[in-house]
Amino acid sequence: MIPYGRHDITEGDIAAVVAVLRSDFITQGPVIERFEKAVAGYCGASHGIAVNSATSALHIACLALGLGAGDRLWTSPITFVASANCGRYCGAQVDFVDIDPLTYNLSVEALAAKLAQAETRGTLPKVLVPVHFAGQSCDMVGIRALADRYGFKILEDASHAIGGRYRDEPVGSCKYSDITVFSFHPVKIITTGEGGVAVTKDADLAVRMTRLRSHGITRDPRAMQGESDGHWYYQQLELGFNYRMTDIQAALGYSQMQRLDTYVGRRQELAERYDTRLSELPLVRPHRHPDTYSACHLYVIQVDPERTPLGRGVLFNRLRQEGIGVNVHYIPVHTQPYYRYLGFKHGDFPVAERFYVNAISLPLYPTMTEEQQNIVIESISMALR
Ligand SMILES: *Cc1c(COP(=O)(O)O)cnc(C)c1O
Repeated sequence: MIPYGRHDITEGDIAAVVAVLRSDFITQGPVIERFEKAVAGYCGASHGIAVNSATSALHIACLALGLGAGDRLWTSPITFVASANCGRYCGAQVDFVDIDPLTYNLSVEALAAKLAQAETRGTLPKVLVPVHFAGQSCDMVGIRALADRYGFKILEDASHAIGGRYRDEPVGSCKYSDITVFSFHPVKIITTGEGGVAVTKDADLAVRMTRLRSHGITRDPRAMQGESDGHWYYQQLELGFNYRMTDIQAALGYSQMQRLDTYVGRRQELAERYDTRLSELPLVRPHRHPDTYSACHLYVIQVDPERTPLGRGVLFNRLRQEGIGVNVHYIPVHTQPYYRYLGFKHGDFPVAERFYVNAISLPLYPTMTEEQQNIVIESISMALR
């Protein structure tokens, strides 16, 4: 089986993890901070907060931005459910903005129209979660301009996009946003097994997220109410969680960070090779926006129903039978039973739904060989011939 994504673990990664296992701290030790600094430094953000998943990072980021009951969070329907669920964890209402048919990212025109309408109804969002689909940044300049006009916060879900760039700045610089979140699940660009990091330029947001990841507890006497009782003393200031990452995971992440640019470079090469070699087939290939350098987490094609009678489902099954681990990203979140129960229905976000019907993610990962890629290309060509 050629999987759609795969992690890469080197002997160096293993040695880094083993060194932590032999050390005095296997969680909450010195490696967490080293990893946080490496991620924040790479992005040009000032603070990094490591947690046990991107889902946790999204949750505490929403809380730090003040999202609560009675508030609204908007995101894209073409994402993993976690980008929307973080709003629900905080008791907020979730709504979606349809996608751009070229980039598959949240459409800034659709956003502008929806905001204008929401303003008249008094239903403006507090937080917007733009998702950098497949590793390609959203139109952050357009989104920032709307945030300035309507006063919402921006939380970038960059789970696919570490190592990517937007207008010559790393994704995660937070130049246009309040907080950016990365995922280190094994199918993502680099991995910690499970894990996530939130980066920000705002010191107050960083303090708040650091507290929320560990039970809402502070050990900083300046943050306490009244006097500290002594060196052992801590105070719980609010209701937080145990969302901590371990040093074992951080050691793997720090070691993987050293190869981030190599990984993304290789993903780019393979994506360009797909672009060239699939160009004659009745497929829509990914659009590359000139403002972006994609981290190429996914290579998503759409079967073009106007040029082939072969449906997406048939092509998908045929490729799977041939041992090619294709996948589909994503089932529009608003069509999930949980979100339908909240009132959404088929037809609410037609561009996203049309995309979903034809989309297939092809295998793409840094250790994929050209021989493996040729097998994928050959199988697709045979099926569509
Ligand atoms: C993977 C992913 C997440 C969740 O990441 P975890 O680290 O598994 O919690 C959130 N959003 C998007 C877009 C993702 O792809």
